[in-house]
Amino acid sequence: MEVDQIALSPEDLPKKWYNIVPDIPGGLPPPKEPDDGESRMEALKRRLVGECLKQEMSTSSWVDIPEEIRELYIHAGRPRPMYRALRLEKRLGLKKARIYYKREDLSPTGSHKVNTAIAQAYYAAKEGKHTLVTETGAGQWGTALSYAASLMGMKTVVFWVRAVYDWKRERRLLMQMYGAEVHASPSDLTAFGRRLLSEDPKHQGSLGIAVSEGLEFTDLEGGRVYCLGSVLNHVLLHQSVIGLETIKQFELVGDSPDVVIACLGGGSNFGGVALPFLGEVLQRKRKCEFIAAQSEAAPNLIKGEYRYDFGDTAGHTPLMKMYSLGHDTPMTPIMSDGIRYHAAAPIISALKSKGYVKAIAYPADEMLVFEAARTFLETEGWLIAGESAHAVRAAMDEARRAESKGEERCILVNISGHGFLDLDAYRHKMKA
Ligand SMILES: *Cc1c(COP(=O)(O)O)cnc(C)c1O
Repeated sequence: MEVDQIALSPEDLPKKWYNIVPDIPGGLPPPKEPDDGESRMEALKRRLVGECLKQEMSTSSWVDIPEEIRELYIHAGRPRPMYRALRLEKRLGLKKARIYYKREDLSPTGSHKVNTAIAQAYYAAKEGKHTLVTETGAGQWGTALSYAASLMGMKTVVFWVRAVYDWKRERRLLMQMYGAEVHASPSDLTAFGRRLLSEDPKHQGSLGIAVSEGLEFTDLEGGRVYCLGSVLNHVLLHQSVIGLETIKQFELVGDSPDVVIACLGGGSNFGGVALPFLGEVLQRKRKCEFIAAQSEAAPNLIKGEYRYDFGDTAGHTPLMKMYSLGHDTPMTPIMSDGIRYHAAAPIISALKSKGYVKAIAYPADEMLVFEAARTFLETEGWLIAGESAHAVRAAMDEARRAESKGEERCILVNISGHGFLDLDAYRHKMKA
């Protein structure tokens, strides 16, 4: 019997998250205050979940996952399986290259974002908050947080980039069914939103603008707290559960990846799967390469400059050292909007600057990536998100390249989400 699913049981769920910060050569450049306005660090203390802010600054390599969060992870389907892509390998005619994929699409709301949403909602409830406020781009984060809040009996207010809010009606409904209040951004609920709408009543919004609105909205009433779905250290910390499980899964089959590939917008699914492996590379316990798959619509690691920049358009966040395209640079919406963000996480950026992370970007018309997603569907049978399709395309390209050189190559790719609520994107991008 040829078994292609590599499963773990609930007892195998990691008990600690991995924090790569103390292992980064030369350390992580700290956040900075901009020259003008209020202290952004003080503002964060007011707006973010206290425990998350503590984790943001943590210098411990390992952070205990509270028992209650582990229970919720298991309830939400963790540990998630890894698969060997036998049918895809056959289609590609691979003899020496092997492809494995990790299944973060098998989550209640369809993406890896549930891993940090559950943790953030749990800590917020413990700190007595009643409302979670957030931004969302493609909608996956807003859905994940609404779900996590509903588990904890809390409410979510979501500021959703208008360009996407208007066409993803099913996803909007799902958030509302989880009890969320969903607003198109820019909205008239904040001064910043009203200003943008007065300049352009049909303003399409952006992720940076939605973050600015959410932060401002959080300040307007007590009991509200702001949650972020990517970029920050604590988000990457929570996501490390992906890679920690995957390390165990490779041990089970007696194999080991030569390259880890994931798509990258802000860097949370890439960081989640890659950093536990990368930590072992830094500790000289393992050899492995890392490739971030991006869109030419937002190639922050490739065209961005490594410098201090804001995380949002209005400049409410501290300055963080990141590969950035500029916090107010307009970027054209794409179908895979979850990877359209102006900057890469400080942790990923630091590791990129030291040469540990490579990046590749696919054309913004998305034809190549949806073609890869279609091949994945035809062979492996799973409908993946357009964002994840960037990673699958990169894995297929990497496999073909290795095969043509007769190289042994073990490739791990992370499937960050499913495409069931984004089928429209497929309709637009399929040739027939
Ligand atoms: C949000 C999202 C991404 C991109 O975000 P990262 O923070 O870079 O991981 C990728 N895939 C899916 C399915 C998403 O929801």
